[in-house]
Amino acid sequence: MNKRELLHRAAPHYSENQQLELAHAIDFATSAHEGQKRRSGEPYIIHPLAVADTLVEWGMDIDTVIAGILHDTVEDTDATLETIENLFGRDVAFLVDGVTKVSQARAGMRNLESYLPQTKDNLSKLLIAVGQDVRVIIIKLADRLHNLSTLQHMNREKQLKIARESLEVFAPMADKLGMGRVRMQIEELAFSYIDPTEFKRLENMMKKRLGKSTRKLGAVRQDVERELKKQNIEAEVNGRVKSIYSLYKKLKKVDGNIDDIYDLMALRIIVKDKEECYKVLGILHSMYQPMISRIKDYIGIPKPNGYQSLHTTVITPSKQIVEFQIRTRDMHEYAERGLAAGFHYHEQKDTKNYIRGRSTAASLPTQLQWITQLQEIAARLGSGDDISQDELNIDLFGNRIFVYSPKGDIYNLPEGALPLDFAFMVHSDIGRHAYSFRVNGNIHSFDKPLQNGDVVEVVTRKLSMPKQAWLDLVKTGHAREKLRSQLKKMELIETLTGAANIIRQKTLRRKK
Ligand code: MN
Repeated sequence: MNKRELLHRAAPHYSENQQLELAHAIDFATSAHEGQKRRSGEPYIIHPLAVADTLVEWGMDIDTVIAGILHDTVEDTDATLETIENLFGRDVAFLVDGVTKVSQARAGMRNLESYLPQTKDNLSKLLIAVGQDVRVIIIKLADRLHNLSTLQHMNREKQLKIARESLEVFAPMADKLGMGRVRMQIEELAFSYIDPTEFKRLENMMKKRLGKSTRKLGAVRQDVERELKKQNIEAEVNGRVKSIYSLYKKLKKVDGNIDDIYDLMALRIIVKDKEECYKVLGILHSMYQPMISRIKDYIGIPKPNGYQSLHTTVITPSKQIVEFQIRTRDMHEYAERGLAAGFHYHEQKDTKNYIRGRSTAASLPTQLQWITQLQEIAARLGSGDDISQDELNIDLFGNRIFVYSPKGDIYNLPEGALPLDFAFMVHSDIGRHAYSFRVNGNIHSFDKPLQNGDVVEVVTRKLSMPKQAWLDLVKTGHAREKLRSQLKKMELIETLTGAANIIRQKTLRRKK
């Protein structure tokens, strides 16, 4: 990758001015990194160029691409943030600053043994950065991907450190952002360094298995294509092969028996719209016998990271077990690219608004509400608030549940959330005046956790006010923060009314 190639790749997607700015950034970074080399012996600039190229490929806006070019300049060269702001504007400088902060946080992690205790600090800084702009993490993911793909030049110890960190921090981050393809790329690369022997073994095992089943699957695919055509459904049918790392994880669950894994290879059916997805599901179930427990409707109820698809596993007359994934083109695009799909070069102002925290939780699609929650945590960390590891974990890495309002609106909460968490998520006024709860029609106490699928009704009373004891009855950072500020406000009002009363009494006395 060189300047000319990158500009050529970017040309179709950005305006002429933007391309000039990009060229300017490349020159700036090239001279800043002058004389520096990568471990491979190549000039350093090939790295930021590769990162920017990935960001172009992901369809990111021009500020992100330029920040990608400049991402290591403040950390590793004499370039300052002020210069970058003067030359490339506030937004770019802001992104570069975020990426630099994340790198510095990473540098704080010394060795693998002490990895866990230090994760919190690292994570916090990551959050502060992401809380302000998710694009920082997207740049970081592109950076990580290139470093992983050039890991062969590092010593074993470094390889392990970077690979493990990728698996524990960056892959889950990509997953949170719904960036399925990137998550998989990171996992495959990282795992191949962490356990090369096991990686090879599974790769061979997979090859052998696939050889056997590919031919049989081809027959199923033809049958399905023929049937869909007959029903006038235009569809694209593809095979998708399980990644080595997800095979590894799955094998651990089934005691190492590959015969128990049904989705080694799946067929993916892409159709025009949602209605057709369900139609195709019906057609498949009329052709083959479905395995009841394996039907998943992630369209009706998307995964917390926004993933949507219908999944079903069927048994063919020749006793072959085949998994299908049915989705629309948009759902497919999102499954692969996640949040990055929202940027699409220079359009998409709306996406930017919520990513930069200008929207509220209520206006976000359910599956992205966690971004706002993350931003709130980041803000609190930034203001020096002490946040317990528990609280971080429950908000960020815990499992999520979906609960419903009586009107059928879906809310996404961490597992273990209590009714007040729900109330504050719906609206801070609902939380404030919460009087009692009904869950699935029954009275439900304040301290009893909600379950996935619960229908939660908050009974409010105008005169009911928040109590200090409620602080023990909320689990999410969001509810805790809202509650705290309400309690503070009440205290202030009490003090003021108290003072007003004293003044009034004094005045009355004087009148007497
Ligand atoms: Mn870098």
